[in-house]
Amino acid sequence: MIALDFKKQVVVITGGCGGIGQAVTRQFVEAGARVVSIDLAEPGSPQENCRYLMADVSNFAEAENCIEDILASETGIDCLINNAGISQDATIWNMTEAQWDQVIDVNLKGAFNFAHHVAGHFRRQNRGKIVNVSSINGLRGKFGLANYSAAKAGLIGLTKTLALELGRYNVNVNAVAPGYVLTPLTKKLPEEIIAQARDETVFGRLATAEDVANTILFLASDLACHITGEVVKVDGGQYI
Ligand code: NAD
Repeated sequence: MIALDFKKQVVVITGGCGGIGQAVTRQFVEAGARVVSIDLAEPGSPQENCRYLMADVSNFAEAENCIEDILASETGIDCLINNAGISQDATIWNMTEAQWDQVIDVNLKGAFNFAHHVAGHFRRQNRGKIVNVSSINGLRGKFGLANYSAAKAGLIGLTKTLALELGRYNVNVNAVAPGYVLTPLTKKLPEEIIAQARDETVFGRLATAEDVANTILFLASDLACHITGEVVKVDGGQYI
């Protein structure tokens, strides 16, 4: 078995206090990384070797402050995981402007804010990794999720463009596209939606947060050094 080694690396993750974020944080810490989590929420169970900053990823100035703070107080930044996300589901005829704006602002602009502010550091050190957490619903349409699908599709466009722009500075930029994962984000969905998603997988089970975290760590590792601009589905075949 190949063990991933992130010793002496600083990983910044947004939404680190949520279901997927906690699993990613735990795995990076186990692999030796120092993690800085940025979230609106307080950590339920804080992890060792992880620092928690409270900020709104959709706020450009707050994102800048976070990156400046981390660069001033940690040994640098090696990986950025844009994971914070929300959903506000409604059909297009019922969706309010606020529901549209909030989801685009957190799920898409949030990733822009952090990638923008970390890009200068990655260019100066001529190295870095970015993993954006998209969704299979950014690769296909999904009834009632116009805002979410548009934001997650936008994140894929952002991923590919950043891969082109930052490749000359040895920065890998990739995305994961999970299917349904049982976390607080999806637990609020009706049971029939969860069952339908489970039936769409070829394994008859939904992804765990750990399944998604495994792929994020791989993409952030040097094992994936020649992979960039990719979107890796972690969906048990749900999309096929
Ligand atoms: P979650 O709700 O458990 O976690 C999301 C975290 O983001 C929370 O801790 C929340 O406080 C934080 N957050 C929300 N808005 C924020 C803001 N403005 N600023 C800072 N932090 C903010 O959800 P999750 O299931 O762990 O989702 C993580 C990511 O995975 C999201 O981008 C989500 O869209 C994506 N995703 C989830 C699933 C799924 O089925 N759970 C599937 C595909 C993609």
